Amino acid sequence: MPSFVGAIDNGTSSSRFLIFDEKGDLVIGHQLEYRQIFHQPGWVEQDPMDILGSVITCIDYALRKFELQGNRVKHLKGIGITNQRETTVVWDRKTGKPLHNAIVWSDTRTKDIVRKYCDSSDKGADALRDVCGLPLTTYFSAVKLRWLLDNIPEVKEAHDKGDMMFGTVDSWLIYNLTGGVDGGVHVTDVTNASRTMLMDIHTLKWSDKALEFFGINANVLPEIKPSSCLFGKINHPQLTETKDLPIAGCLGDQHAALVGQHCFHVGEVKNTYGTGCFMVFNTGEKIIPSNNGLLTTVGYQFEGEPAAYALEGSIAVAGSAVKWLRDNMGIIKDAEEINNLAGATKDSGGVVFVTAFSGLFAPYWRPDVRGCILGISQHTTKHHLARATLEATCFQTRAILEAMNADSGQPLKSLRVDGGLSNSDICMQLQADILGIEVTRPQMRETTALGAATAAAVHLDIGIWKGGFKAFTERTQEQESKAVLQKFTPKISEKEREEQYGLWQKAIEKTLSWTP
Ligand code: ADP
Repeated sequence: MPSFVGAIDNGTSSSRFLIFDEKGDLVIGHQLEYRQIFHQPGWVEQDPMDILGSVITCIDYALRKFELQGNRVKHLKGIGITNQRETTVVWDRKTGKPLHNAIVWSDTRTKDIVRKYCDSSDKGADALRDVCGLPLTTYFSAVKLRWLLDNIPEVKEAHDKGDMMFGTVDSWLIYNLTGGVDGGVHVTDVTNASRTMLMDIHTLKWSDKALEFFGINANVLPEIKPSSCLFGKINHPQLTETKDLPIAGCLGDQHAALVGQHCFHVGEVKNTYGTGCFMVFNTGEKIIPSNNGLLTTVGYQFEGEPAAYALEGSIAVAGSAVKWLRDNMGIIKDAEEINNLAGATKDSGGVVFVTAFSGLFAPYWRPDVRGCILGISQHTTKHHLARATLEATCFQTRAILEAMNADSGQPLKSLRVDGGLSNSDICMQLQADILGIEVTRPQMRETTALGAATAAAVHLDIGIWKGGFKAFTERTQEQESKAVLQKFTPKISEKEREEQYGLWQKAIEKTLSWTP
Protein backbone atom coordinates (compact mmCIF):
# COMPACT_ATOMS: atom_id res chain seq x y z
CA MET A 1 0.00 0.00 0.00
CA PRO A 2 1.48 3.39 -0.95
CA SER A 3 1.90 6.05 1.73
CA PHE A 4 1.66 9.81 1.25
CA VAL A 5 2.26 12.76 3.50
CA GLY A 6 0.63 16.18 3.23
CA ALA A 7 1.95 19.66 4.04
CA ILE A 8 -0.03 22.78 4.86
CA ASP A 9 2.13 25.76 3.88
CA ASN A 10 0.66 29.04 5.05
CA GLY A 11 2.90 31.69 3.50
CA THR A 12 2.47 35.43 3.95
CA SER A 13 0.87 35.87 0.52
CA SER A 14 -0.83 32.53 -0.03
CA SER A 15 -1.69 29.14 1.43
CA ARG A 16 -0.90 25.81 -0.17
CA PHE A 17 -1.64 22.18 0.55
CA LEU A 18 0.85 19.81 -1.09
CA ILE A 19 1.04 16.03 -1.08
CA PHE A 20 4.34 14.13 -1.30
CA ASP A 21 4.81 10.43 -2.02
CA GLU A 22 7.01 8.11 0.02
CA LYS A 23 10.08 9.02 -2.10
CA GLY A 24 9.60 12.69 -1.19
CA ASP A 25 8.38 13.59 -4.70
CA LEU A 26 5.64 16.18 -5.04
CA VAL A 27 2.42 14.55 -6.27
CA ILE A 28 -0.14 17.34 -6.30
CA GLY A 29 -1.13 20.52 -4.55
CA HIS A 30 -3.40 23.52 -4.50
CA GLN A 31 -2.55 27.16 -3.76
CA LEU A 32 -4.70 30.23 -3.00
CA GLU A 33 -3.65 33.84 -2.49
CA TYR A 34 -5.58 35.44 0.36
CA ARG A 35 -6.45 38.92 1.53
CA GLN A 36 -3.91 41.34 2.99
CA ILE A 37 -5.38 44.26 4.93
CA PHE A 38 -3.48 47.57 4.84
CA HIS A 39 -5.35 50.14 7.02
CA GLN A 40 -2.51 52.64 7.12
CA PRO A 41 1.16 52.88 6.10
CA GLY A 42 3.26 50.35 8.02
CA TRP A 43 0.23 48.31 9.14
CA VAL A 44 -0.31 44.81 7.74
CA GLU A 45 -3.17 42.61 8.95
CA GLN A 46 -4.83 39.38 7.91
CA ASP A 47 -8.16 37.94 9.02
CA PRO A 48 -7.42 34.67 10.90
CA MET A 49 -10.67 33.25 9.44
CA ASP A 50 -9.35 33.98 5.90
CA ILE A 51 -6.12 32.14 6.73
CA LEU A 52 -8.05 29.14 8.08
CA GLY A 53 -10.54 29.23 5.18
CA SER A 54 -7.76 29.31 2.57
CA VAL A 55 -6.06 26.33 4.19
CA ILE A 56 -9.27 24.28 4.30
CA THR A 57 -10.08 25.12 0.65
CA CYS A 58 -6.54 24.15 -0.41
CA ILE A 59 -6.83 20.80 1.41
CA ASP A 60 -10.20 20.15 -0.19
CA TYR A 61 -9.09 21.01 -3.76
CA ALA A 62 -5.76 19.19 -3.46
CA LEU A 63 -7.53 16.03 -2.22
CA ARG A 64 -9.96 16.17 -5.17
CA LYS A 65 -7.03 16.43 -7.62
CA PHE A 66 -5.22 13.66 -5.73
CA GLU A 67 -8.22 11.35 -6.19
CA LEU A 68 -8.57 12.30 -9.84
CA GLN A 69 -5.00 11.04 -10.28
CA GLY A 70 -6.26 7.64 -9.07
CA ASN A 71 -4.96 7.98 -5.50
CA ARG A 72 -6.91 7.24 -2.32
CA VAL A 73 -7.23 9.71 0.55
CA LYS A 74 -6.87 6.85 3.04
CA HIS A 75 -3.26 6.43 1.88
CA LEU A 76 -2.46 9.86 3.28
CA LYS A 77 -0.75 9.01 6.59
CA GLY A 78 -0.46 12.43 8.19
CA ILE A 79 0.34 16.06 7.65
CA GLY A 80 2.90 18.67 8.63
CA ILE A 81 2.34 22.39 8.96
CA THR A 82 4.62 25.25 8.07
CA ASN A 83 3.68 28.88 8.41
CA GLN A 84 4.58 32.54 8.17
CA ARG A 85 6.29 33.27 11.47
CA GLU A 86 5.76 35.93 14.18
CA THR A 87 2.31 36.86 12.82
CA THR A 88 0.26 37.23 15.97
CA VAL A 89 -3.24 35.83 16.53
CA VAL A 90 -5.40 36.20 19.65
CA TRP A 91 -8.68 34.40 20.13
CA ASP A 92 -11.35 33.81 22.74
CA ARG A 93 -11.00 30.58 24.72
CA LYS A 94 -14.81 30.33 25.15
CA THR A 95 -15.94 30.99 21.57
CA GLY A 96 -12.81 30.08 19.61
CA LYS A 97 -13.30 33.29 17.58
CA PRO A 98 -10.50 35.79 16.84
CA LEU A 99 -10.43 38.83 19.12
CA HIS A 100 -8.72 40.91 16.43
CA ASN A 101 -7.17 40.60 12.98
CA ALA A 102 -3.78 38.92 12.95
CA ILE A 103 -0.91 41.41 13.04
CA VAL A 104 1.52 40.31 10.35
CA TRP A 105 5.27 39.95 10.94
CA SER A 106 6.15 42.86 8.63
CA ASP A 107 3.80 45.30 10.42
CA THR A 108 5.70 48.20 12.05
CA ARG A 109 2.94 49.81 14.19
CA THR A 110 4.88 48.84 17.33
CA LYS A 111 7.75 51.31 16.65
CA ASP A 112 6.92 53.44 19.71
CA ILE A 113 6.49 50.45 22.03
CA VAL A 114 9.87 49.14 20.89
CA ARG A 115 11.51 52.53 21.44
CA LYS A 116 10.11 52.70 24.99
CA TYR A 117 11.36 49.20 25.81
CA CYS A 118 14.82 49.98 24.37
CA ASP A 119 14.98 53.19 26.43
CA SER A 120 13.95 51.34 29.60
CA SER A 121 16.94 48.97 29.54
CA ASP A 122 20.63 49.81 29.76
CA LYS A 123 21.16 47.07 27.17
CA GLY A 124 18.88 48.92 24.72
CA ALA A 125 17.60 46.69 21.91
CA ASP A 126 19.58 43.80 23.40
CA ALA A 127 17.56 43.78 26.65
CA LEU A 128 16.43 40.18 26.11
CA ARG A 129 19.01 38.93 23.61
CA ASP A 130 20.66 36.61 26.16
CA VAL A 131 17.26 34.97 26.84
CA CYS A 132 15.72 34.69 23.38
CA GLY A 133 18.55 35.45 20.92
CA LEU A 134 16.62 38.34 19.38
CA PRO A 135 16.86 42.13 19.45
CA LEU A 136 13.88 44.30 20.36
CA THR A 137 12.30 45.33 17.05
CA THR A 138 8.81 45.56 15.59
CA TYR A 139 9.25 42.13 14.00
CA PHE A 140 8.56 39.65 16.81
CA SER A 141 5.25 38.53 18.31
CA ALA A 142 5.59 39.76 21.92
CA VAL A 143 5.59 43.44 20.94
CA LYS A 144 2.60 42.88 18.64
CA LEU A 145 0.75 41.20 21.52
CA ARG A 146 1.70 44.12 23.79
CA TRP A 147 0.22 46.53 21.21
CA LEU A 148 -3.04 44.53 21.19
CA LEU A 149 -3.19 44.59 25.00
CA ASP A 150 -2.57 48.34 25.07
CA ASN A 151 -4.96 49.29 22.27
CA ILE A 152 -7.80 46.77 22.03
CA PRO A 153 -9.91 46.68 25.25
CA GLU A 154 -11.53 43.30 24.38
CA VAL A 155 -8.08 41.73 24.10
CA LYS A 156 -6.91 43.22 27.41
CA GLU A 157 -10.08 42.10 29.18
CA ALA A 158 -9.84 38.54 27.83
CA HIS A 159 -6.13 38.40 28.75
CA ASP A 160 -6.75 39.59 32.31
CA LYS A 161 -9.70 37.21 32.80
CA GLY A 162 -7.75 34.23 31.46
CA ASP A 163 -10.10 33.94 28.46
CA MET A 164 -7.54 34.77 25.79
CA MET A 165 -5.46 32.36 23.74
CA PHE A 166 -2.38 33.61 21.92
CA GLY A 167 -0.59 31.89 19.11
CA THR A 168 1.42 32.26 15.95
CA VAL A 169 -0.38 31.01 12.82
CA ASP A 170 0.66 27.38 13.44
CA SER A 171 -1.12 27.41 16.84
CA TRP A 172 -4.21 29.04 15.36
CA LEU A 173 -4.41 26.45 12.57
CA ILE A 174 -3.70 23.41 14.76
CA TYR A 175 -6.25 24.60 17.36
CA ASN A 176 -8.94 24.89 14.70
CA LEU A 177 -8.03 21.78 12.73
CA THR A 178 -8.10 19.64 15.89
CA GLY A 179 -11.56 20.74 17.03
CA GLY A 180 -11.45 24.43 18.07
CA VAL A 181 -13.66 24.99 21.12
CA ASP A 182 -14.56 21.33 20.84
CA GLY A 183 -11.26 20.01 22.27
CA GLY A 184 -8.77 21.72 19.93
CA VAL A 185 -5.20 21.57 21.20
CA HIS A 186 -3.26 24.75 22.02
CA VAL A 187 0.31 23.96 20.95
CA THR A 188 3.26 25.33 18.99
CA ASP A 189 6.72 24.08 18.09
CA VAL A 190 10.14 25.27 19.25
CA THR A 191 10.89 27.11 15.99
CA ASN A 192 7.72 29.19 16.04
CA ALA A 193 8.08 29.78 19.78
CA SER A 194 11.65 31.00 19.18
CA ARG A 195 10.22 33.92 17.17
CA THR A 196 7.96 35.32 19.89
CA MET A 197 10.74 36.72 22.16
CA LEU A 198 8.99 34.82 24.96
CA MET A 199 10.91 31.54 24.79
CA ASP A 200 14.26 30.96 26.48
CA ILE A 201 16.33 29.45 23.64
CA HIS A 202 18.57 27.64 26.12
CA THR A 203 15.80 25.75 27.96
CA LEU A 204 13.23 25.76 25.09
CA LYS A 205 10.59 26.79 27.68
CA TRP A 206 8.61 30.00 28.08
CA SER A 207 10.74 32.52 29.95
CA ASP A 208 9.36 34.10 33.15
CA LYS A 209 11.78 36.98 32.65
CA ALA A 210 10.47 37.73 29.15
CA LEU A 211 6.82 37.34 30.22
CA GLU A 212 7.36 39.77 33.07
CA PHE A 213 9.22 42.18 30.79
CA PHE A 214 6.26 42.37 28.40
CA GLY A 215 3.53 42.01 31.08
CA ILE A 216 2.02 38.90 29.52
CA ASN A 217 0.26 36.14 31.49
CA ALA A 218 1.65 32.64 30.98
CA ASN A 219 -1.84 31.10 30.76
CA VAL A 220 -2.41 32.60 27.28
CA LEU A 221 0.51 30.66 25.79
CA PRO A 222 0.45 27.38 23.85
CA GLU A 223 2.43 24.33 24.92
CA ILE A 224 5.86 24.17 23.22
CA LYS A 225 6.64 20.87 21.46
CA PRO A 226 9.48 19.59 19.24
CA SER A 227 9.00 20.22 15.48
CA SER A 228 8.43 16.53 14.73
CA CYS A 229 5.99 14.76 17.08
CA LEU A 230 2.26 14.19 17.43
CA PHE A 231 0.59 17.62 17.73
CA GLY A 232 -3.01 16.43 17.45
CA LYS A 233 -5.50 14.77 15.12
CA ILE A 234 -7.73 16.38 12.51
CA ASN A 235 -11.22 17.05 13.82
CA HIS A 236 -12.96 19.68 11.70
CA PRO A 237 -16.51 19.63 10.29
CA GLN A 238 -15.28 20.50 6.76
CA LEU A 239 -12.55 17.86 6.76
CA THR A 240 -14.50 14.66 7.36
CA GLU A 241 -12.45 12.59 4.89
CA THR A 242 -9.27 13.29 6.81
CA LYS A 243 -10.81 12.91 10.29
CA ASP A 244 -8.27 11.66 12.85
CA LEU A 245 -5.33 12.16 10.48
CA PRO A 246 -2.30 12.98 12.67
CA ILE A 247 -0.65 16.38 12.50
CA ALA A 248 2.90 15.23 13.14
CA GLY A 249 5.14 18.08 12.01
CA CYS A 250 5.23 21.83 12.57
CA LEU A 251 7.91 24.40 11.78
CA GLY A 252 8.07 28.09 10.96
CA ASP A 253 8.52 28.50 7.20
CA GLN A 254 12.22 29.41 7.18
CA HIS A 255 13.04 26.54 9.53
CA ALA A 256 11.02 24.15 7.36
CA ALA A 257 13.02 25.33 4.32
CA LEU A 258 16.23 24.52 6.25
CA VAL A 259 14.92 20.97 6.75
CA GLY A 260 13.52 20.75 3.19
CA GLN A 261 16.91 21.81 1.77
CA HIS A 262 18.54 19.11 3.95
CA CYS A 263 20.77 21.63 5.73
CA PHE A 264 21.36 19.22 8.63
CA HIS A 265 25.06 19.89 9.12
CA VAL A 266 26.86 22.73 10.83
CA GLY A 267 27.75 25.42 8.29
CA GLU A 268 24.97 24.57 5.79
CA VAL A 269 22.91 27.57 4.68
CA LYS A 270 19.78 28.24 2.65
CA ASN A 271 18.24 31.49 1.42
CA THR A 272 14.48 31.56 0.77
CA TYR A 273 13.12 34.29 -1.51
CA GLY A 274 9.39 34.59 -0.67
CA THR A 275 7.40 37.65 0.40
CA GLY A 276 10.49 38.50 2.46
CA CYS A 277 13.87 36.80 2.13
CA PHE A 278 15.55 34.82 4.88
CA MET A 279 19.01 33.31 5.08
CA VAL A 280 19.40 30.60 7.73
CA PHE A 281 22.75 29.06 8.75
CA ASN A 282 22.81 25.82 10.76
CA THR A 283 25.07 26.17 13.83
CA GLY A 284 24.23 22.71 15.24
CA GLU A 285 23.88 22.38 19.00
CA LYS A 286 25.80 25.63 19.52
CA ILE A 287 23.95 28.86 20.31
CA ILE A 288 25.98 31.57 18.55
CA PRO A 289 25.16 35.13 19.59
CA SER A 290 25.50 37.54 16.67
CA ASN A 291 27.80 40.55 16.73
CA ASN A 292 26.70 41.61 13.27
CA GLY A 293 22.95 42.18 13.35
CA LEU A 294 21.80 38.61 12.81
CA LEU A 295 19.30 36.66 14.89
CA THR A 296 19.97 33.55 16.94
CA THR A 297 17.11 31.13 16.55
CA VAL A 298 16.12 27.47 16.82
CA GLY A 299 16.68 25.67 13.49
CA TYR A 300 14.53 22.60 14.21
CA GLN A 301 14.07 19.87 16.81
CA PHE A 302 13.17 16.27 16.08
CA GLU A 303 11.60 14.30 18.93
CA GLY A 304 14.20 12.75 21.22
CA GLU A 305 16.99 14.80 19.61
CA PRO A 306 18.65 17.99 20.85
CA ALA A 307 17.57 21.19 19.11
CA ALA A 308 19.69 22.44 16.20
CA TYR A 309 20.28 26.19 16.37
CA ALA A 310 20.76 28.68 13.58
CA LEU A 311 21.85 32.19 12.73
CA GLU A 312 19.39 34.08 10.57
CA GLY A 313 19.48 37.17 8.38
CA SER A 314 16.01 38.49 7.60
CA ILE A 315 14.99 40.82 4.77
CA ALA A 316 11.48 42.26 5.17
CA VAL A 317 10.72 42.93 1.49
CA ALA A 318 11.62 40.63 -1.42
CA GLY A 319 8.78 39.10 -3.48
CA SER A 320 6.45 41.71 -1.95
CA ALA A 321 8.33 44.37 -3.97
CA VAL A 322 7.48 42.41 -7.12
CA LYS A 323 3.86 42.37 -5.92
CA TRP A 324 4.10 46.13 -5.34
CA LEU A 325 5.15 46.64 -8.97
CA ARG A 326 2.10 44.57 -9.94
CA ASP A 327 -0.57 45.87 -7.54
CA ASN A 328 0.49 49.47 -6.77
CA MET A 329 2.47 50.56 -9.84
CA GLY A 330 0.64 48.38 -12.38
CA ILE A 331 3.77 47.98 -14.51
CA ILE A 332 3.50 44.18 -14.60
CA LYS A 333 0.41 41.97 -14.74
CA ASP A 334 1.92 38.98 -13.00
CA ALA A 335 5.10 38.21 -11.06
CA GLU A 336 6.80 36.40 -13.97
CA GLU A 337 6.56 39.51 -16.14
CA ILE A 338 9.21 41.28 -14.06
CA ASN A 339 11.73 38.98 -15.69
CA ASN A 340 10.89 40.23 -19.22
CA LEU A 341 11.21 43.82 -18.06
CA ALA A 342 14.43 43.32 -16.10
CA GLY A 343 15.91 41.18 -18.87
CA ALA A 344 15.32 43.86 -21.53
CA THR A 345 18.07 46.07 -20.13
CA LYS A 346 21.71 45.16 -19.49
CA ASP A 347 21.81 47.04 -16.17
CA SER A 348 19.66 49.20 -13.92
CA GLY A 349 20.94 52.44 -15.54
CA GLY A 350 22.29 53.68 -12.20
CA VAL A 351 18.93 53.29 -10.43
CA VAL A 352 19.09 51.88 -6.90
CA PHE A 353 15.84 50.91 -5.19
CA VAL A 354 16.02 50.44 -1.42
CA THR A 355 12.74 48.58 -0.87
CA ALA A 356 12.39 49.57 2.79
CA PHE A 357 8.55 49.46 2.84
CA SER A 358 8.57 48.06 6.40
CA GLY A 359 11.78 49.68 7.54
CA LEU A 360 14.97 47.69 7.12
CA PHE A 361 15.61 44.39 8.86
CA ALA A 362 18.99 42.64 9.06
CA PRO A 363 21.68 43.76 9.39
CA TYR A 364 20.40 47.36 9.70
CA TRP A 365 17.33 46.97 12.03
CA ARG A 366 15.75 50.36 11.36
CA PRO A 367 11.91 50.16 11.52
CA ASP A 368 11.61 53.93 11.07
CA VAL A 369 13.06 54.29 7.56
CA ARG A 370 11.11 54.33 4.29
CA GLY A 371 11.97 53.09 0.81
CA CYS A 372 14.02 55.23 -1.58
CA ILE A 373 14.53 55.13 -5.35
CA LEU A 374 17.78 56.89 -6.18
CA GLY A 375 19.63 57.73 -9.40
CA ILE A 376 16.59 58.42 -11.61
CA SER A 377 17.22 60.31 -14.88
CA GLN A 378 15.28 61.21 -18.03
CA HIS A 379 16.64 57.96 -19.44
CA THR A 380 15.11 55.79 -16.65
CA THR A 381 12.44 53.31 -17.75
CA LYS A 382 10.29 50.66 -16.09
CA HIS A 383 12.95 48.17 -17.23
CA HIS A 384 15.53 49.81 -15.00
CA LEU A 385 13.08 49.93 -12.08
CA ALA A 386 12.24 46.24 -12.51
CA ARG A 387 15.91 45.31 -12.51
CA ALA A 388 16.66 47.54 -9.50
CA THR A 389 13.75 45.83 -7.66
CA LEU A 390 15.37 42.42 -8.11
CA GLU A 391 18.79 43.79 -7.24
CA ALA A 392 17.49 45.22 -3.93
CA THR A 393 16.99 41.73 -2.48
CA CYS A 394 20.32 40.56 -3.90
CA PHE A 395 22.26 43.47 -2.35
CA GLN A 396 20.61 42.93 1.04
CA THR A 397 21.48 39.24 0.77
CA ARG A 398 25.11 40.26 0.25
CA ALA A 399 25.03 42.45 3.40
CA ILE A 400 23.62 39.49 5.33
CA LEU A 401 26.13 37.05 3.88
CA GLU A 402 28.97 39.30 4.99
CA ALA A 403 27.48 39.41 8.52
CA MET A 404 27.08 35.62 8.47
CA ASN A 405 30.69 35.10 7.37
CA ALA A 406 31.88 37.42 10.16
CA ASP A 407 29.74 35.73 12.88
CA SER A 408 30.53 32.17 11.87
CA GLY A 409 34.14 32.70 10.81
CA GLN A 410 33.45 30.43 7.80
CA PRO A 411 33.16 32.26 4.46
CA LEU A 412 30.38 30.67 2.43
CA LYS A 413 31.38 29.14 -0.89
CA SER A 414 27.94 28.60 -2.42
CA LEU A 415 24.35 29.53 -1.58
CA ARG A 416 21.33 27.19 -1.79
CA VAL A 417 18.15 29.04 -2.73
CA ASP A 418 14.40 28.44 -2.90
CA GLY A 419 11.07 30.32 -2.61
CA GLY A 420 8.80 32.03 -5.19
CA LEU A 421 11.23 34.73 -6.31
CA SER A 422 14.02 32.16 -6.80
CA ASN A 423 12.02 31.03 -9.86
CA SER A 424 13.43 34.12 -11.54
CA ASP A 425 16.58 33.08 -13.46
CA ILE A 426 17.56 36.69 -13.92
CA CYS A 427 17.29 37.39 -10.19
CA MET A 428 19.41 34.33 -9.35
CA GLN A 429 22.06 35.34 -11.92
CA LEU A 430 22.11 38.85 -10.42
CA GLN A 431 22.51 37.20 -7.02
CA ALA A 432 25.54 35.16 -8.11
CA ASP A 433 27.06 38.28 -9.71
CA ILE A 434 26.48 40.43 -6.62
CA LEU A 435 27.78 37.79 -4.16
CA GLY A 436 30.66 36.52 -6.26
CA ILE A 437 29.86 32.91 -5.27
CA GLU A 438 27.85 30.14 -6.90
CA VAL A 439 24.07 30.07 -6.35
CA THR A 440 22.44 26.62 -6.49
CA ARG A 441 18.71 26.07 -6.99
CA PRO A 442 17.01 22.69 -6.55
CA GLN A 443 14.63 21.48 -9.23
CA MET A 444 11.92 20.97 -6.59
CA ARG A 445 11.40 24.43 -5.09
CA GLU A 446 8.60 23.61 -2.66
CA THR A 447 11.25 23.00 -0.02
CA THR A 448 9.30 24.75 2.75
CA ALA A 449 6.40 22.33 2.35
CA LEU A 450 8.84 19.43 1.96
CA GLY A 451 10.42 20.40 5.30
CA ALA A 452 7.02 20.25 7.05
CA ALA A 453 6.21 16.95 5.32
CA THR A 454 9.63 15.62 6.41
CA ALA A 455 9.01 16.53 10.06
CA ALA A 456 5.67 14.69 9.92
CA ALA A 457 6.97 11.69 7.97
CA VAL A 458 9.95 11.11 10.30
CA HIS A 459 7.51 10.88 13.20
CA LEU A 460 5.12 8.69 11.18
CA ASP A 461 8.07 6.48 10.14
CA ILE A 462 7.15 6.18 6.47
CA GLY A 463 8.93 6.05 3.10
CA ILE A 464 12.41 7.53 2.71
CA TRP A 465 12.02 8.96 6.20
CA LYS A 466 11.84 5.53 7.91
CA GLY A 467 14.16 4.67 10.78
CA GLY A 468 14.23 7.97 12.64
CA PHE A 469 15.93 11.31 12.14
CA LYS A 470 19.56 10.14 12.27
CA ALA A 471 19.05 7.38 9.72
CA PHE A 472 17.21 9.80 7.45
CA THR A 473 19.90 12.49 7.61
CA GLU A 474 22.60 9.94 6.81
CA ARG A 475 20.62 8.90 3.73
CA THR A 476 20.12 12.52 2.64
CA GLN A 477 23.90 12.87 2.16
CA GLU A 478 23.69 10.16 -0.47
CA GLN A 479 20.63 11.78 -2.08
CA GLU A 480 22.33 15.19 -2.09
CA SER A 481 25.02 13.94 -4.43
CA LYS A 482 22.29 12.83 -6.86
CA ALA A 483 20.05 15.93 -6.53
CA VAL A 484 19.41 17.89 -9.71
CA LEU A 485 20.61 21.42 -9.05
CA GLN A 486 20.67 24.41 -11.33
CA LYS A 487 23.81 26.46 -10.85
CA PHE A 488 24.30 30.19 -11.40
CA THR A 489 27.95 31.27 -11.47
CA PRO A 490 29.22 34.86 -11.20
CA LYS A 491 29.71 36.45 -14.61
CA ILE A 492 30.95 39.94 -13.78
CA SER A 493 34.41 41.08 -12.73
CA GLU A 494 35.37 41.74 -9.12
CA LYS A 495 35.74 45.44 -10.01
CA GLU A 496 32.17 45.68 -11.38
CA ARG A 497 30.84 43.76 -8.38
CA GLU A 498 32.46 46.12 -5.89
CA GLU A 499 31.34 49.21 -7.85
CA GLN A 500 27.73 48.01 -7.83
CA TYR A 501 27.79 47.13 -4.15
CA GLY A 502 29.45 50.48 -3.38
CA LEU A 503 26.49 52.23 -5.02
CA TRP A 504 24.09 50.17 -2.89
CA GLN A 505 25.97 51.07 0.28
CA LYS A 506 25.73 54.76 -0.62
CA ALA A 507 21.98 54.35 -1.21
CA ILE A 508 21.65 52.65 2.19
CA GLU A 509 23.45 55.55 3.88
CA LYS A 510 21.00 57.99 2.26
CA THR A 511 18.00 55.84 3.24
CA LEU A 512 19.12 55.51 6.85
CA SER A 513 19.52 59.26 7.19
CA TRP A 514 16.19 60.11 5.55
CA THR A 515 13.32 59.60 7.97
CA PRO A 516 10.07 61.34 7.04
P1 ADP B 1 5.40 33.26 0.72
O1 ADP B 1 5.74 31.86 1.14
O2 ADP B 1 6.07 34.32 1.56
O3 ADP B 1 3.93 33.51 0.58
P2 ADP B 1 6.39 32.47 -1.94
O4 ADP B 1 7.61 31.65 -1.70
O5 ADP B 1 5.15 31.82 -2.38
O6 ADP B 1 6.08 33.47 -0.72
O7 ADP B 1 6.81 33.56 -3.03
C1 ADP B 1 5.88 34.48 -3.49
C2 ADP B 1 6.58 35.69 -4.04
O8 ADP B 1 7.44 35.32 -5.12
C3 ADP B 1 5.55 36.64 -4.60
O9 ADP B 1 5.72 37.87 -3.90
C4 ADP B 1 5.88 36.79 -6.08
O10 ADP B 1 5.92 38.16 -6.40
C5 ADP B 1 7.26 36.17 -6.24
N1 ADP B 1 7.38 35.33 -7.45
C6 ADP B 1 6.79 34.13 -7.68
N2 ADP B 1 7.16 33.65 -8.88
C7 ADP B 1 7.99 34.56 -9.45
C8 ADP B 1 8.72 34.66 -10.69
N3 ADP B 1 8.67 33.72 -11.63
N4 ADP B 1 9.48 35.77 -10.89
C9 ADP B 1 9.57 36.73 -9.96
N5 ADP B 1 8.90 36.69 -8.78
C10 ADP B 1 8.14 35.64 -8.52
